[in-house]
Amino acid sequence: MAPPAESRVWDPAELLPRDRLAGLQLDRLRETLVRAAGTPFHASAFARAGMAPADVRSLDDLRRIPVTTKDDLRAHYPLGMLAVPRAEIARIHGSSGTTGKPTFVAYSRADMQVWSGLCARFLVAGGLRPDHLVHVAFGYGLFTGGFGLHQGIERVGAGIVPVAGGNTPRQVTLLSDLRPDVLVCTPSYALHIAEVARAVGFDPRDLGLTSGHFGGEPWTEEMRLEIERELGIQAFNNYGLSEVIGPGVSGECGARAGMHVAEDHFIVECLHPATLLPVPDGTVGELVFTSLTKEAMPVVRYRTRDLASLDRSPCPCGRTGARMSRVVGRSDDMFIVRGVNVFPSQIEEALLRVEGAAPHYVIEIARPGTLDEAVVRVEIRPRDFSDEMRQMVALRDRIDHEIHSITGIRMTIELVAPNALGRSEGKARRVIDHRKGGGSGG
Ligand SMILES: [Zn+2]
Repeated sequence: MAPPAESRVWDPAELLPRDRLAGLQLDRLRETLVRAAGTPFHASAFARAGMAPADVRSLDDLRRIPVTTKDDLRAHYPLGMLAVPRAEIARIHGSSGTTGKPTFVAYSRADMQVWSGLCARFLVAGGLRPDHLVHVAFGYGLFTGGFGLHQGIERVGAGIVPVAGGNTPRQVTLLSDLRPDVLVCTPSYALHIAEVARAVGFDPRDLGLTSGHFGGEPWTEEMRLEIERELGIQAFNNYGLSEVIGPGVSGECGARAGMHVAEDHFIVECLHPATLLPVPDGTVGELVFTSLTKEAMPVVRYRTRDLASLDRSPCPCGRTGARMSRVVGRSDDMFIVRGVNVFPSQIEEALLRVEGAAPHYVIEIARPGTLDEAVVRVEIRPRDFSDEMRQMVALRDRIDHEIHSITGIRMTIELVAPNALGRSEGKARRVIDHRKGGGSGG
């Protein structure tokens, strides 16, 4: 689809030529490192690396500094990473503690200005105009989604209906009565709104929405098509995480071919999750961010665990910021077979290509001798389950071929009857690793 005609650029910095961008990044990186060195955590990280902020003379020198992890943030709970006096805190947000304590992030007044401007950037890139009315169905609270988008919409000058999450039938009533142009929420909630709208007698396409900005969770291109079909809108993806700043780290332009990273505010690296060496553009790796302008809580080489690829080729929109792909998985879920990284999402992709294979599978990895062996058990769809040996062998060979073509390695494929693998309520356990030490492979 062509970019919307009204697509504008919020900040001229989005168009900076790459060489000037690199110069700006280096200046800002050096300031950030000096600021970060004022905190005990970063001071000791520099000491471990045997360097001082002043030793950073090029962007490549950044790689000499150790990475920061979520565990590091937890170890300095609640505000041990603060780099400004407490009195300068303008806001505190946090990420939900699904695994233990939450982590808090603090913003100075200047950080708040940067953050709202970054949200305005991707909203405007996705066609938001001051005359629009926006329905925000993100939760408002410690979570950065609600307030982040809200402030960005205010910066653009558009109207806001701050509905927050929950009570979906009421959301549908408000959408129908107030006729907003734009919807902001998680992609799964957008589909839920459409579903509930139908259930209470509305065609969701008649709600009058024209576009939506979705984020806060990974989603697929198939989901985008479904949201667009269901709600009759253009759907835009955006990305961020509270530790780095919240939403606004990157977002899609009208070309919708990747999310432009705000590289004047963040250095993005895409690293092999095991070696922490850079992977080439176009290759999936773990995203690692260094903030360049944050005052209250700068992050240096923060490991997101989010897997995506980078594209630095020119974009038709003219923005020069590298584009990141959708998040395709978490590095925590990666496993290594005979030295090759494999992600469960790759197995899913392979199974989607094979008619007759259900997206229900379990991978078992063992090392009976010196080599890793991976067995993929795949359920057959009920209508394709057959006594015909030849048919079953052909199906198994097709799965083998697709998994090999996507991952580059051969796994043993075992077909099992429909529903044989069982279903779990929560997150399905896809990988069972029998190797000693959990199989860091290699
Ligand atoms: Zn673009």
